[in-house]
Amino acid sequence: MRRSYLLTAVLALLALAGLAISGARRDLPWEEREVFAMDTLMRLKVQSDDPKVLDRMEEEIRRLEGLLSAHVPTSEVSILSSTGALKASPETEQVLRLSIQVAQGTHGAFDPTIGALSRLWGIGTEEARVPSREEILRALETVDYRTLRYLGDHRFSLSAGRLDLGGIAKGFAGDRLVELLASMGIRRAVMDLGGNVVVFGPPPKAVWRIGIQHPDRPRGEVLGVLELPERRAAVVTSGVYERYFERDGVRYHHILDPSTGEPARSGLMAVSVACSSSALADGLSTALFVAGPERGMEILSRHRCQAIFVTEDRRVLITPQLAPRFSLRDRSFRVEVLR
Ligand code: ADP
Ligand code: MG
Repeated sequence: MRRSYLLTAVLALLALAGLAISGARRDLPWEEREVFAMDTLMRLKVQSDDPKVLDRMEEEIRRLEGLLSAHVPTSEVSILSSTGALKASPETEQVLRLSIQVAQGTHGAFDPTIGALSRLWGIGTEEARVPSREEILRALETVDYRTLRYLGDHRFSLSAGRLDLGGIAKGFAGDRLVELLASMGIRRAVMDLGGNVVVFGPPPKAVWRIGIQHPDRPRGEVLGVLELPERRAAVVTSGVYERYFERDGVRYHHILDPSTGEPARSGLMAVSVACSSSALADGLSTALFVAGPERGMEILSRHRCQAIFVTEDRRVLITPQLAPRFSLRDRSFRVEVLR
């Protein structure tokens, strides 16, 4: 009797210790790192006690930059731009094929062949300037996503122009990192790849809370907060405040309208897009900024994504499914639910 009581007590203690251990495992520490890559500051946070995870993530980002950057002369994207032909690696193939799809699905509001034009404006570089109308028209002649073709068997051709995947590459990196983390059995991660926020894993408190950058306040100040219950989500913001220069009181920002050759003027300060794929959210955020809310809603009707448009006249236009999950912090804006 006494011995079995003792045994029960010991087993109970062991069970408690076991709970404590598995509890501790559930509450692994968060490891963080900042990485400057793809021309932007990235913040990586993972819940893991393996210090190699962040190394692997950083390596993967740099590897993708080496394949996809238009500023790296040896990248696959640069090779396709300069020779007009490429047999692509699996990652480059994936992002190029998605770029073609997004260009088709947005009627060219997103256009991966924008390279000659973005180079001409040089926004975000030391050489930023306002080009002449003739220069713009000459560059525009080379901008047409239909000149980028997938030929099958991993091969692509580009008959004119230069590629610039700046509107989708960071988002693509987000998806690749999620795959990497899943393959490593990582429980949770939060990544901010320069305005591309990706969350992975079960939300810590029923929802992930994602701040939407305020369009005219310093980085880190939020316009509002989104609460997302998904185990995997991306919220990508394109805004006029990201990269721009000013001449004679005019602000020239880095999202270019392929129909005019100039910085897009759609009455917006910013657009955020939420999808499960961060590459798609990134491509669409650039496209919706160019297209504006009305054409933007038409584009969204063909994609399983949600959006928040922030207009110059301080309205926050939000798609119906996202509306109940958004709380506004700056009362000088007004929320309107789109239909
Ligand atoms: P950010 O790079 O600030 O996150 P975006 O995702 O909107 O913002 O991408 C803007 C970048 O995409 C530009 O710097 C340029 O490289 C490229 N770009 C600009 N206009 C377009 C466009 N209409 N279609 C595709 N890419 C574009
Ligand atoms: Mg984008």
